[in-house]
Formats: sequence, C-alpha cells, structure tokens
Amino acid sequence: MINIIDEAKKIQDEIVNWRRNLHQIPEIGLELPRTAAYVAKELDEIGVDYKSNIAGSGILGFIEGVEEGKTILLRADMDALPIEEDTGLPFASTNGNMHACGHDAHTAMLLGATKILNKYKDKIKGNVKILFQPGEEGPGGAKPMIEEGVMDNPKVHAALGLHIGGIFEEVNTGQVGISYGRTMACLDSFNIKIIGHGCHGALPNLGVDPIVISSKVISALQTIVSRELSPTNPAVVTTGILKGGTAYNVIPDFVEIAGTVRAFDQNTREKIASSIESIVEGITKGMHGDYEYDYTFGYPPLVNDDNFTKEFVDTVKKVVNEKDIIELIEPTMGGEDMSYYLQMVPGTFFFLGGLNKEKGMIYPHHNPKFMIDEDVFWKGTALLAQGAIDWLDKQ
Ligand code: MN
Repeated sequence: MINIIDEAKKIQDEIVNWRRNLHQIPEIGLELPRTAAYVAKELDEIGVDYKSNIAGSGILGFIEGVEEGKTILLRADMDALPIEEDTGLPFASTNGNMHACGHDAHTAMLLGATKILNKYKDKIKGNVKILFQPGEEGPGGAKPMIEEGVMDNPKVHAALGLHIGGIFEEVNTGQVGISYGRTMACLDSFNIKIIGHGCHGALPNLGVDPIVISSKVISALQTIVSRELSPTNPAVVTTGILKGGTAYNVIPDFVEIAGTVRAFDQNTREKIASSIESIVEGITKGMHGDYEYDYTFGYPPLVNDDNFTKEFVDTVKKVVNEKDIIELIEPTMGGEDMSYYLQMVPGTFFFLGGLNKEKGMIYPHHNPKFMIDEDVFWKGTALLAQGAIDWLDKQ
C-alpha cells in the first residue's frame, strides 16, 4: 500500500520551493516561456515524459501505469495576471505581473503529484495525463489544448483539477470545498455600438443622440435577468464599459458599450444573447439610431459530474477530517476554463481553502496583496495523486 499522504508531506518543502520559484517569474496569456521552461526542467528531473509547446506554452506529461486501464487527466493552470505585486513577500514578483490567483501553487502542487505518481507507477492501473495549461485568465488555454489533441491518444476518460484560495468564503484554510453539478458560471461577453448622428448640443433636433439611446439601453438590459429569466435561474448581465462623447456641448456620433454575461446553461446564454439584441434593436430603431452588436460565447459553465464527485469525496476523507469537507450549495458566478475538459469527460473541480486570517492572508483573488497559506500545499498534491489512483483502481 502506498501512503500518498506521507509521501505528500515528505515533499511539502519541495512544493513550496517550486511555488516560490514560479511566483517570481509570472507570465500572462498563452506564451509563458520562462514558466514552461521551469516546469519542463522539473519534469525532466522527476523523469516523466512530456510534450511541450501545446497551444503556446502548454505541457502534457504522461505516466503509464503497469497494468492496462483507463486514463485520467490532472490539470493545473500556470498563468498569472498583469498586476503589480504589493505583498512585500521576500519572493514577490518584480516584473510587473503577479500570480494573484494562485496558479503558481496549482502548478507546484501538480508537480508534487507527478513526482509521487511517477515513483509508484508500477502500482498504477491505467494512465495519468499531467496537463499544465497557459492562458486561463485569458484568452483561454483549455480549448486550444483540446484542439491540439490533449484528450486523445490515449483517450482521456476523466479529469480532476483544483483551485486554491478563497473563491468560496465558506472554505477555510486547509478545508476542501466540494461541489456537485453546476459549480461555476459561463464567461461570455458582448459589445454594442450605438450609432447616432452627431450635432451641436444646443440643437439636438438636428441629430440623433446616441448618449440618450445608450442610457435607455443600459437600464433596459437589466430587465433581462429580472423580467425575462425565471427568478430561480441565476444569471448576471453587467455593463462594464460605456464610452462616448468628446465635449460637453457636442452630441457624438456613437457610443460604445461592453459587458459580461454569466449563466449556467446553454439555453439561458442563447436567450440572453438574443434578448440583448432585441432590446438594443428596439430602442435604437425606435429612436432613429442604428447599432452594431457582437456576442461572444466564452468559457462554458463548469459542471462537476455527480458520480465522480461522490467517489472523490471518499478520496478527500483519506486526506482531511470529515468536518473539513465543505459541500458547496451555491455555485459562483465566476468562470474557469477547466469547464472545457469537464464538458467532455466526467470529473470534478474542487477548492482548497488557501486564505488564512490569522496570518493576514485575507485579500481576494486578483488583488495586488493576494497571498496564500503554503502550509496547505501538501493536501492539494495528496488529493490529486490519491484522486487519480483511487479513480483508476475502481475502473
Ligand atoms: Mn484562477
């Protein structure tokens, strides 16, 4: 019997060290040359085969067990954000980017799981694919990595991943948040251009005022969620950008509006996308203006598989006390491109509490002071490794 927990605790310092090294070289988007080179070097050290440069800087490692079986994918994202770090940590980033979402920890914890699984590959029934993904914070790395074939040859049958930090407030330091079914929302966006006809601000009758039209459009958009969707179907329509005008006494030619939509199913997304356009069209045409409209279906909603998740809870019980397993009731309206893998195969995305009030680690994700408690890292490593072994054993 392999004791994964002891193995994970034994390499806790190494996981912390990987994380600190990655923390100092944060990179954004799909091209993460220094980060990917670092991960590749550590995979060489561990002795695992891998393919690199997938969809930019993506890496796919492969561990073939001794017995034939199914294949599970373990996924970590490894990109950072364009945020100037303000934590004062000795290993803080100084390059203008920051690991302000904890993806450095995801990468380090997955390296730890890789090391353990590789050490015991002669006890594994089936295969483990180890996926390090760029671009989660945008423009999205999961979809292009899937398009480059990471789910094939051999075919992936299940997927497991985690997020550290404080996405769910009820998951305290070192606790594990488990969610069945709908877990995170889709991440869509829209752009609207309201086209009027510019003129002197004192002679509005000579033009078509896109600012007045826009003000009606923006408030009417708020009726989509409140009047057109079922009150029990959670969704968000947020206008985040409103740009127009150059002078106080000039009616401009056009106004630009952009926003985000969050929802949990494809029908709702399509309904919102078309309702936005009918509101824009109706108001604009009724007021003698015109419009351009563009809706982008981004990351799909993240839905955990009920059966996989139920079985995974048995794994979690091996790693943490039962009272530290928190079943999440409400999903979050935040998005994650882990959803693309979970659209294709059953699996679960779980949450490891990483903020710590006593240590002053209280800042939210994407904040320049975001900090996480490194003491919980071994748990993430243990949960990934044990989760893979337990699932493969049951097949
Ligand atoms: Mn994140």
